[in-house]
Amino acid sequence: MDETIDERTAIVTGSSRGIGKHVAKRFAADGANVVVCSRSLEDCEAVAAEIESDGGSAHAVEVDVSEKPSVENLIEEAVDRFGRLDVMVNNAGINIRGPAEDITPEEWQQVLDVNLTGVFFCAQAAGERMIEQGDGGSIVNISSMMGSMGQQDRTPYNTTKGGVNNLTRCLAVEWAEHDIQVNALAPGYIETEMVEQAQEDADFDREDVQNRTPLGRFGTLEEIANCVSFLASNDNFVTGEVLTADGGWSAFGWGCKDD
Ligand code: NDP
Repeated sequence: MDETIDERTAIVTGSSRGIGKHVAKRFAADGANVVVCSRSLEDCEAVAAEIESDGGSAHAVEVDVSEKPSVENLIEEAVDRFGRLDVMVNNAGINIRGPAEDITPEEWQQVLDVNLTGVFFCAQAAGERMIEQGDGGSIVNISSMMGSMGQQDRTPYNTTKGGVNNLTRCLAVEWAEHDIQVNALAPGYIETEMVEQAQEDADFDREDVQNRTPLGRFGTLEEIANCVSFLASNDNFVTGEVLTADGGWSAFGWGCKDD
C-alpha cells in the first residue's frame, strides 16, 4: 500500500470509464477514499460498486464539469461523505474533430467548456476547499501531448490542452503558498475507448502511431495511473510541471523509428 495515498480523499472526474476509471481504481487500491464522477451516474455507480467489492472505499456523484453549480455540488458531496478533500484529478475530456474551417461555434464552445473551463471550475472549487482546510493538497490536470503541438483536424482539442498546461502553471504559482501542488500529465496514445473511436477515422493508423513512437507501442492505463499517483503525492517538490508520458513520441523530431 502506498503510504502517501492512504487515508486521503481523491476526486477523479470522468471516471465512469477509460483513464479516469483506472486512476480511480488505483487510488482506491492504494487506500484512498475515491469519488467517482461523470455525467452518467449509473456508470459511476457501477465503477464505485466494483471498487467496493474489491475492498476499497468509493462514492459516485453525477457531475457536468462545464457547469459551475454542478462542480460545487461535487465538492460538497465529497466532503459530506468523506470529511475532506486531498486530491483532485481533472480528467474529464472530449474531442470534436474536423477541419478548422468547418468547426462550428457550438463545437468550439463545447470542447472549450469541458476541456478548459471544466478543468478551471474543478480546480477552482477544489483549491478553495483545500485553502480552507489549511493543510495543502494536490491537483492533477490531465492534458495531452497534443497540448504542445499542431495536428490536422484537432484544433479545438489541442488548443484546450495547451490552455490546460498554462492554467496548471498559473495555479501552481498562485497556490504554492497554501502548499497545494498543481501539475499536469500529458499522455500520448493510450489504449482507451477514445483511441478505439479515433481508429474509425481515415487518418488514424495504429501501426503508424506505433512506428512513430520510440517505445514502439501504445501506453497502458497502468502506466498512466502510475504517473498520476506520483504527481498526486505531496512529497516530490514538483509543481507547475507538465509531465509527458508518450513513449518518446514528442521527443522524436521526424520520421519513423525504423527510418
Ligand atoms: P474517455 O472518452 O474514455 O472518457 C472520458 C470521460 O470524461 C468519461 O468518463 C466521460 O463520462 C467524462 N466526461 C466527458 N464530458 C464530461 C463532462 N462534461 N462532465 C463530466 N464528465 C465528462 O476518454 P479517455 O479516458 O481516453 O481520456 C481521459 C482524459 O485523458 C481526457 O482528458 C483526454 O483528453 C486525455 N487523454 C487521453 C488520451 C488517450 O490516448 N486516450 C491521450 C491523451 C490525453 P460521461 O460521458 O459519463 O460524462
